[in-house]
Parts: sequence; C-alpha cells; structure tokens
Amino acid sequence: MQSVFRKCAATLALLGAVNCATARAETMNVTLLGTGTPILNINRFGISVLVEAGKQKLLFDAGRGVAMRLHQQQVPLRDISAVFISLLNSDHITGLPDLYATAPLPTDDGRLRKPLTLFGPEGIDNVARGIELMFKDQNRMRMLEGEVVEPATHITAAQVQEGSVYEKDGVKVTAFLIEHGHVKPDFGYRVEYGGHAVVITDDTTYSENLVAHAKHADLMVQSVAIGSRALERAAPDYVNHFYGYLASPENAGRILSEARPKLAVFAHISLYSRPDIARATTDELRERIRAAYNGDFVIGEDLMAFKINDHGVSQVPYSPDVRHKEPG
Ligand SMILES: [Zn+2]
Repeated sequence: MQSVFRKCAATLALLGAVNCATARAETMNVTLLGTGTPILNINRFGISVLVEAGKQKLLFDAGRGVAMRLHQQQVPLRDISAVFISLLNSDHITGLPDLYATAPLPTDDGRLRKPLTLFGPEGIDNVARGIELMFKDQNRMRMLEGEVVEPATHITAAQVQEGSVYEKDGVKVTAFLIEHGHVKPDFGYRVEYGGHAVVITDDTTYSENLVAHAKHADLMVQSVAIGSRALERAAPDYVNHFYGYLASPENAGRILSEARPKLAVFAHISLYSRPDIARATTDELRERIRAAYNGDFVIGEDLMAFKINDHGVSQVPYSPDVRHKEPG
C-alpha cells in the first residue's frame, strides 16, 4: 500500500499537475487514551488504546475513564466500530459500562443505533450480558421516552481465539496469546492496515509467541512493570512475584530487541513501592529499558498520539484543537 503515495509522486513527476489529493498513503492514527493500571491515578486513566484506520475506529481495552478520554479527543462514542479486550481483569473493562450506557444517548449530531461490538477472551459473553442486565431497567425507561433505541441496548460479544478476529474496510485484527501468569487466556492484538502494523500487548511478560506475532511492527504498545533497585534489594520475593507475570524493564527490553518495532511506546505502566521505598522514577525506568534495548521508544502518557504511514511513525503533539484543524 505504500505504493499509493509513491505512485502518486511518480505520476506527478511524469505528468506534471495531476490532482493526487485523493490518492495518498493510508494513515493509521493511534492514541493512548489511558496508560494506567487498576491503581487510582488522576494522571493515568485506565488502559485503553484507540486505533483509527480508514473508516474504522477500534478500541483496545476499555479501562477507567475511556468515555471521557474519547470525548476529550472529540471522538463520538457511537463511532467506535469495535472494542477488543485483552483479559478480563477490572482495569481493562471498567470503562465499558459507561461506553455502553452513554453512546446511545441523543447528542447534537447523533447517537448509537446499533449494538456495541465486543471481542475478548472466554468470559466476554458474561461481561456483555452483565452490562445489559445492569442497565436493563434504565433502558426500559429510556426507550419509553425515545431516548434510546432498542438495537443499541444489545452488545454483540465474540469470544476470541488465536488468529484473525476482525476484517473490515482493509483493516485486519489478529489475536495472539501472551503471558500473564495465572490469568489465561490473555491476548495481544496486531492491527494491520495499508501495509502497516500496530501491535498492542497489555499485561504480559516475555513470551516467544508474543515476539513471533509482534515482529517488525511500525508501532508497538507494550506494558512494563518496575520496582526500584532499592525495592528489588529489600524485597526480592515481592518484586520477583510480579516480574513473573509482568515484563520488567529488562524483559521489556528483551521483547523489543527480538520484535524490533520501528517505535515502541510503553503504556500500562506498573510502579511498585513500599511505604518506606518510593516508586521508581520515569528516568530509572527509561535508563533500565535503554540498557536492554537500543531501538527507539518513548514512555507513554495519556493522550499521547502517533501517526503511521509511508513516511514512518511520528508522534503527534497533543492539543484539544488539533483534531479539528488538521486535515484528515
Ligand atoms: Zn491490566
């Protein structure tokens, strides 16, 4: 697909003034809506990543505050094409009830009129039916008043297996198993569009299967956990316990060294501490990853965004006004 842009450039060279406005390279936009964990943190909302590709707006995990972050990004909730859940821990799904209940409400420019589409591991149907039940009576009352249409009260839930799980308008999503200790199954997702790939792996430590599916992505969204060196010395059993199911900076570096994405961004960042030993700083996190990985990476923050196309991967500065001002 890189050909579209380059063919256009070649045509321009040969024919002079040719309107190539519609024949440009496809772009994927990736926004970290939330980069936090189950622990409350006003600066890091629950884990959620928005991938926009062509007409598709795909959400990967729906942690605490996802509806607010989408609103902040001026993405109407009803425009979410599908939601993909990695695992069923609370921090990946607590934003779903808000998304479900708010998207169908009338707004100035529309409402959700169809079922919410949800993909996830075994148990995802329980999540869907549970949310429907939670709002059963409010739906009945809102439908009486015409505030909600009946199709939007349903959730279409599909249980994910390893392999291709979604294909639409040139966008393909592949699920693959990652390693989160006793939490099984736990899925990473690879999104492909226009010859480019984004890989999202939330809770995981090193796994060969992860590396195999993450090879040569343009952008990799990777989780990491860290206890400071002081904590590692003082409480090795405690630290090694969570390093058993979450990637330490060194294991995260190993994953990236083998997968070799063009750019990696860390989200879902677990910072461990004890009352007498502070959390590791961002600088320590960065230095320890750097010692294990010589490629490009950034430490993610909420609303950090990336653009991926034939020109490469670039970070997009956040501004509440940017989306309206930027062309396409
Ligand atoms: Zn998690």
